[in-house]
Amino acid sequence: MRILVTGGAGFIGSHLIDRLMADGHEVICLDNFFTGHKRNIVQWLNHPYFELIRHDITEAIRLEVDQIYHLACPASPVHYQYNPVKTIKTNVMGTLNMLGLAKRVKARFLLASTSEVYGDPEVHPQSEEYRGNVNPIGPRSCYDEGKRVAETLAFDYHWQNDVEIRVARIFNTYGSRMLENDGRVVSNFVVQSLKGQPLTVYGDGSHTRSFCYVSDLVEGLIRLMNCDRTGPINLGNPDEYTILELARSVQQMVNPEAEIIFKPLPQDDPQRRRPDITKAKALLGWQPTIPLQEGLKLTVEDFRNRIASPEMPHLASV
Ligand code: NAD
Ligand code: UDP
Repeated sequence: MRILVTGGAGFIGSHLIDRLMADGHEVICLDNFFTGHKRNIVQWLNHPYFELIRHDITEAIRLEVDQIYHLACPASPVHYQYNPVKTIKTNVMGTLNMLGLAKRVKARFLLASTSEVYGDPEVHPQSEEYRGNVNPIGPRSCYDEGKRVAETLAFDYHWQNDVEIRVARIFNTYGSRMLENDGRVVSNFVVQSLKGQPLTVYGDGSHTRSFCYVSDLVEGLIRLMNCDRTGPINLGNPDEYTILELARSVQQMVNPEAEIIFKPLPQDDPQRRRPDITKAKALLGWQPTIPLQEGLKLTVEDFRNRIASPEMPHLASV
């Protein structure tokens, strides 16, 4: 198949491309390199089945493909809040453009939605039926509401124009290739402890998240794309940890001498988050296989190598 991955030079997108290329597909990666980087896909640049297009999805584009994994959108609060209007444009105009493309060429379209559509949830754990508790005018709303509109657009194209859609609600995912300055909690704690800096826990650290290793997530995305259900389907690891527990785990693993300090909790930061993955288990036969300690080890190893050799000589020309 010829498969388009928007946001393919980013963290999840590049791991997805590795899998699709290994499975023998032809892959087109579309990215504007806002948070993505060529080094994430450098291994495929000269491959005859791989094509890289620098393109901003807020502009239309004509391509012929069989499937579209639509991931383009900054995912870290630090990055999506950098230019909130652009984040909304990416989610609304960008998703509209990619759905228009799917409609024209009759491609199956998978939207990378998010647990953020549940906002600061009043229901725990979150199942797909929960409609969420999102602040429409807060600092996170460009992303939360943007993704909610993206889901609406996907379903309206499905009902009105028969576009085959799949909607994944992705919960916190971590792993190799996250940016050093990504700003998300796992990468922050790992980078801070490797550099001997204090680990910055926001609030008192009692709020929770559930962390899924990236290879598990990619498996879930591929299964969802190739099943016969539209979703939405939660994809995430149901093992829930407080942020302080996460900080202590990373501290123990990397640098027991590293200090843990507390900083103010950002506005509208969700208090608790854990996916109900009953549907993913039943419909996709999917559940995460990599426990946090194992995934953290792989992530630490990746950051250790990158921090040790930041220039990576073989990438000098990329
Ligand atoms: P990322 O920031 O690493 O990747 C996003 C990619 O999209 C980057 O390569 C970036 O350059 C590209 N991009 C952004 N705006 C674009 C635009 N206008 N045109 C073209 N390319 C653009 O983030 P990620 O963690 O890999 O997330 C990928 C997708 O998964 C996002 O849609 C995100 O909302 C979703 N998601 C991720 C998580 C997570 O924990 N990582 C959780 C829920 C949902
Ligand atoms: N967080 C933290 N220290 C950091 C970065 C994040 O305590 O250095 C907290 C953040 O306030 C949130 C949780 O960790 O409660 C997860 O944050 P992240 O940005 O990774 O993802 P999201 O909030 O989008 O789930």
